[in-house]
Amino acid sequence: MVRFMNVTKSYGDLVVLDSLDLDVAEGEMVTVIGPSGSGKTTVLRMLMTLETINGGVIYVDGEPLTHMEKNGVLVPADAKHMRRMRANIGMCFQHFNLFPHMTAIENCMEAPVHVLGLTRKEARERGLELLALVGLEEKVDEHPARLSGGQQQRVAIARALAMRPKVLLFDEVTSALDPEVIGEVTNVIRKLVSEHNLTMLMVTHQMGFAREISDRICLFYRGQIEEQGTPDELFGNPQRERTQQFLRAVT
Ligand code: ATP
Repeated sequence: MVRFMNVTKSYGDLVVLDSLDLDVAEGEMVTVIGPSGSGKTTVLRMLMTLETINGGVIYVDGEPLTHMEKNGVLVPADAKHMRRMRANIGMCFQHFNLFPHMTAIENCMEAPVHVLGLTRKEARERGLELLALVGLEEKVDEHPARLSGGQQQRVAIARALAMRPKVLLFDEVTSALDPEVIGEVTNVIRKLVSEHNLTMLMVTHQMGFAREISDRICLFYRGQIEEQGTPDELFGNPQRERTQQFLRAVT
């Protein structure tokens, strides 16, 4: 569903992604872990088309994300292609990024109405269903300021799902939360993994959480995958010295 092929990203002289090859299969939950600065968030930002690519190609559901084929060669995509491709990707951030002046349900309706062209009635029905999925049916008319961090993050997940993305990205979605509400967000993500067959790519520093819910873990080191495997393989029997060092430092 997602394929990074030989992708390079630099900021000036700093090479952040170094000929990266990364695949995420349909319905797979892949978590990226690794030292600070190893390029984890950049992977998500590239998928959100927030960053330009310096080399290689990213495919989403078989189509190049930022390029299109013309007469057999790949050329930079036009705005229409970019808009269509961007709609395939949903993202949840560490700091929720909800619209503060809108209620929970209005947050969920905004993009489906304005980007997908749903009627307000259709968007409301979809939003209500998703807010129920994340356990917030009682809070649909609340503004973000009146919700806990965990509840705000669950609204953000419902809002991302309202666009019916093919791929959902999570960037440190539990890092800004108090320990007592982390569980409610991880339970929602666990439910998405087990019941909804969504393709998900997550970046987290929380190893316990990553181990529990991921199908596969990729350990990044200097913009490349140093080692990858199932959670049991990577955490239980790491092969590479750098993986062992990283896990010793964080667990
Ligand atoms: P962390 O765990 O600390 O969040 P990360 O693995 O997610 O780190 P990235 O955020 O992907 O790392 O950043 C990789 C490198 O790219 C870092 O050295 C960072 O300083 C650098 N970087 C990121 N964004 C920019 C930018 N806009 N301009 C210049 N350098 C940047």
